[in-house]
Amino acid sequence: THFGFREVPTGDKQKLVGQVFSSVAGNYDLMNDLMSAGIHRIWKRYFVATCQVKRGDRVLDLAGGTGDIAALLKDRVGDGGELVLGDINGAMLRVGRDRMTDRGNVRGFEYVQCNAETLPFPDASFDLVTIAFGLRNVTDKDAALREMLRVLKVGGQARVLEFSAVKAEWFKPLYDFHSFQVLPRLGKLFARDADSYQYLAESIRQHPPQDELKRMMETAGFARCGYKNLSGGIVAIHTGYRV
Ligand code: SAM
Repeated sequence: THFGFREVPTGDKQKLVGQVFSSVAGNYDLMNDLMSAGIHRIWKRYFVATCQVKRGDRVLDLAGGTGDIAALLKDRVGDGGELVLGDINGAMLRVGRDRMTDRGNVRGFEYVQCNAETLPFPDASFDLVTIAFGLRNVTDKDAALREMLRVLKVGGQARVLEFSAVKAEWFKPLYDFHSFQVLPRLGKLFARDADSYQYLAESIRQHPPQDELKRMMETAGFARCGYKNLSGGIVAIHTGYRV
């Protein structure tokens, strides 16, 4: 059972995504905590802790938004490492940069407003490319995956953290209720913006499930593709390598 499911015409998608994230940028971090009861922090920590990355590496965090992943990655690449935050949305990127600067994270950080589908970086320029809760918003996901592969060095890893398909049947009605009844109300109450959170729930349902995304990564040219479910498939981490 899906409550109020609405298809978004793909031609309008980029514009819609732009409006959504400009609208939520200021409340984005608070809303993440509310909607996931803080669990998104655990997913993100696990995601970063299990990345293939070492001190001194150069890392691209795509759809980096307000910088949660980049801040965690900083500890792993150390002072000699470089982190590039790429996001299509200037408002999200500004919130990210301000937060990072407030935490004293300045050296080794770069902010680039860019579309994941056409990256403004040369081939083979990163040791690791991450995208967390971002791929679902990209219109041409195949193009984004090909670009992630292109900018990776040989031996480098690409990692996707994204909402996925819940596995347990008994949990599905509860999850739908949370997505389509609770989320828009939380959005209305705390961000005065029910529509953006309605979009969120819908974009999660439209995103390719685990095995399909794995196949898409293989088609893009990644080697040794695999995934791991977290929280029963509410989110999944996909991994691929450039060889
Ligand atoms: N990675 C951050 C996190 O985990 O908190 C932010 C995730 S936020 C849900 C999704 C981000 O994707 C937004 O900041 C949005 O601007 C960005 N985005 C959407 N479409 C994009 C695209 N085509 N290229 C790059 N970034 C995009």
